[in-house]
Amino acid sequence: MMSWFRKRRLARARPDEHVFAQVVAEFPVLARLSPDQQSCLLERTTEILADKTFQAAGGMALEDDETLIVATMAALPVLELGVDWYRGFHTFIIYPGEFQAEFEEVDEDGVVHRGRDLRAGEAWAHGPVVLGLDEVLASGRGEGYNVVVHELAHQIDQLNGDMDGFPPLHRGMDRQQWVDVFSQAYQRLCTELEQGLEPSLDPYAAESPAEFFAVASEFYFDVPEWLAENHPDLHHQLKRFYHPTR
Ligand SMILES: [Zn+2]
Repeated sequence: MMSWFRKRRLARARPDEHVFAQVVAEFPVLARLSPDQQSCLLERTTEILADKTFQAAGGMALEDDETLIVATMAALPVLELGVDWYRGFHTFIIYPGEFQAEFEEVDEDGVVHRGRDLRAGEAWAHGPVVLGLDEVLASGRGEGYNVVVHELAHQIDQLNGDMDGFPPLHRGMDRQQWVDVFSQAYQRLCTELEQGLEPSLDPYAAESPAEFFAVASEFYFDVPEWLAENHPDLHHQLKRFYHPTR
């Protein structure tokens, strides 16, 4: 049973249906969802707006319609999974565009490099999800790019510990099969890049198994037909994961 204050919170967060429909129409990945899926998307969006905090950064003010766009795009990966899969974080931080991120890397000799670089989005371990608004607006156009899905895939990935491209799988999913499919596709991409061949996926996916899972998730939602045709095994695993009821 849902408590009365939960109900009230959801009622207050619920976006205007016409404004919501305008957001959906603006992004091809949302516009092509069935009417049933779109009403489910509205429920998820409402839950995200009720549960999460949206903070503007980098000197900008965040308009309601911009918050709604972030929340609606964020609802896409958990359409069937449910917003409980976002329990690992509470806050979205939105910059106007690409933002400077502190980074820390340890090289092969164990030397720590610290610095800043430009990012479109970033998922911190158990921290906020940081997004650049320009990149959010460029996402979900059916071109294989979706920074929101990318960062949220990282959040989902780390629900069972490390960010390692191995999220908590559903009952009935074969763990070994997941590992085999993902490591083969990852190895294939690394080999292609080493040999100067045409990469079969965005080269950024070769950074690490965690990035591979995040990039593959972007492709799964943004260009599903392309992924099904070019990486059928990967598509199958991601479909079983993100859409267990289909
Ligand atoms: Zn990433």
